[in-house]
Amino acid sequence: MSVLVYVEQVDGKFKKSVFEAVSYAKAIADKQNTNLTAISIGNVADGELKELGKYGAAKVLNVANEQLNNFVNQAYAAVIAEAAKKESADLIVLSNSFSGKGLAPRIAVKLKAGLVDGAVELPNFENGFAVKKTAFSGKAFAITTLTSANKVIALNPNAFGVKESAVETVIETFSPEVKSTDLVAIVKEIVRATNKISLPDAELVVSAGRGLKGPENWGMVEELAELLGAATACSKPVSDADWRPHAEHVGQTGIAISPNLYIAIGISGAIQHLAGVSSSKVIVVINKDPEAPFFKVADYGIVGDAFEVVPKIIAALKAH
Ligand code: FAD
Repeated sequence: MSVLVYVEQVDGKFKKSVFEAVSYAKAIADKQNTNLTAISIGNVADGELKELGKYGAAKVLNVANEQLNNFVNQAYAAVIAEAAKKESADLIVLSNSFSGKGLAPRIAVKLKAGLVDGAVELPNFENGFAVKKTAFSGKAFAITTLTSANKVIALNPNAFGVKESAVETVIETFSPEVKSTDLVAIVKEIVRATNKISLPDAELVVSAGRGLKGPENWGMVEELAELLGAATACSKPVSDADWRPHAEHVGQTGIAISPNLYIAIGISGAIQHLAGVSSSKVIVVINKDPEAPFFKVADYGIVGDAFEVVPKIIAALKAH
């Protein structure tokens, strides 16, 4: 029995969340005295595939099939399930990313596997195979014990971290049959909303809400983000009003993120917004209302007018 980790590529590159998933899978493989194999689908250069060895993947199955260059849920799930069978893998690990959320349940169904999505810690092996995960949109944690022979774990980005564990990686071409019925929806082109830092993977995020009054005031948010090397985000009403692109909307109905630092400017902290950001490591809130609910979950809070506070932070950052 062995562990298989799916390594999601974007434009032929792996993101940090992939290296986290590999590190996590390697830690489990080591505990179980077994091998770790990675599976990559799409067009990825050998040099990039070899990077996976730094985090403990001794073998990489490389599925370089033109039809699979862009993500197709059903076909990717079928290929990963085939790889699991080929490798006799009883545990499949992947990142709980946007595509991971669609893949994990499909793989679980194909392999008749138990599934934990949103995992935040290594399984507790002494207590069955008990995995801690987020629940109720990040408001609580739950422990799920997997009792099935096959298991699928989707790891939350930024929950486990990257751990180096260098091994020599062997790249093996894997060419499973792809059914035409699995290719009914084909992504022909992906147009990125922005070429700045990708929000789901960002370590630092500067976010703003309706308190900013209008889209013309986002210059200072972008400037602060640029100075910090952060991605920008926003609350739902802001994207609903087309002040900002929908790709920036975080929360229950938007993207769920867990950066190391989340700066919320002029956002009230409604429960639906917190659902997508409360697992951030450090939360800084800037709001002129001391009763704003966001302060209850903030690590640092500044009660003040964003139009005075944010330019001061920008000036201080520029002075250093
Ligand atoms: P507001 O609630 O209007 O808050 C603006 C804040 O700015 C206030 O706290 C105010 O004190 C402060 N402020 C005003 N002026 C200044 C100033 N000059 N300086 C500093 N602070 C200032 N929302 C999401 O964000 N994400 C979601 O995914 C989401 N999903 C939802 C799903 C459902 C089913 C529902 C019903 C709602 C959802 N919402 C979501 C909406 C959510 O309930 C809130 O309405 C929304 O988050 C409020 O956005 P806001 O904080 O930007 O605006």
